[in-house]
Amino acid sequence: MPLVAVVIALAAAGVVGILAHESLGAFSSSAASPLDTGSLDAAVPLSTALQVRSDEGLPTRVPGSGGRAVGTTDGKVPDGVTIFDDHYAAVTRLDPSLLGALRDAATDAKGDGITLFVNSGWRSRTYQEELFAEAVTKYGSQAQAARWVARPGTSVHEAGKAVDIGGSAADAWLSAHGAAYGLCQIYRNEAWHYELRLRAIDDGCPAIYADPTHDPRMQQ
Ligand SMILES: [Zn+2]
Repeated sequence: MPLVAVVIALAAAGVVGILAHESLGAFSSSAASPLDTGSLDAAVPLSTALQVRSDEGLPTRVPGSGGRAVGTTDGKVPDGVTIFDDHYAAVTRLDPSLLGALRDAATDAKGDGITLFVNSGWRSRTYQEELFAEAVTKYGSQAQAARWVARPGTSVHEAGKAVDIGGSAADAWLSAHGAAYGLCQIYRNEAWHYELRLRAIDDGCPAIYADPTHDPRMQQ
């Protein structure tokens, strides 16, 4: 009798195991579909897929990314990358007009002994989701986070039409000279964030928004 009980228990466990496996598979595929990050996420365990890490510089995983690590192909940028660097998607996937204006400006800034570093440029949707999730953790709510990081799907960075320039000397140089290249600061609280406004070459940069929540493009 005990042997029969063990067999039944094992059989039941096997059935449960199969059911659990199938339901996990179904969850994984439906969870991954809205982003469609490709085939890399097919076999990632659920626990890993939902893990969020904020350790700077380390590969991170975002809810909805299917557990794929966010890296330089998503637009992450290590320290010391300049606007002339062709090895990073953050730079190469910028809108060509914006990139050209930045390189013209950087060439002239160099004459003044100043280097324009790229802290952020083009970003994938997955990377934007990671940044926004980090900002929600840091600022305590989605509404507060949106003052500093655009909600995924609304960021101009995702379209390759914005760049965050460092360091402070470069930001000061662009603040003084950027309009001549059509490069304008858009948000008062982001002195490093520049976009192309070609009319600025003749008319100067348009009025600045206090922060991204005042930008009509950020409304959903
Ligand atoms: Zn920016």
